[in-house]
Amino acid sequence: MTAQKVEEKLFQNRYLVDADNPHIRIKDPEVCATRCETKQCAVCCPAGCYTVEEAKVTLITDGCLECGACRVVCNTYLNVAWEYPRGGYGILFKFG
Ligand code: SF4
Ligand code: SF4
Repeated sequence: MTAQKVEEKLFQNRYLVDADNPHIRIKDPEVCATRCETKQCAVCCPAGCYTVEEAKVTLITDGCLECGACRVVCNTYLNVAWEYPRGGYGILFKFG
């Protein structure tokens, strides 16, 4: 049996988007753009939900693995409002 890469395993998961109800929100985008130099959320997110362009940070929660890392690393500015998705929405992990 050949080993699978993490990206291949992630691709097997399914995700149900809760349109108009993102379960994670950047509280104040201005803080990201003007005060946060390291933008660790974009570095740590395994699903690539955060992108940085110029200084602007964009969050798209589709594909979020609900790991909570972005909330943890934003510990200087506490600028991430984080909840689990509503019941039935979000990630459906496929194991094995
Ligand atoms: S770590 Fe927090 S403050 Fe910094 S860019 Fe990400 S969400 Fe914004
Ligand atoms: S909870 Fe994890 S996967 Fe979801 S946006 Fe945050 S870091 Fe990315």
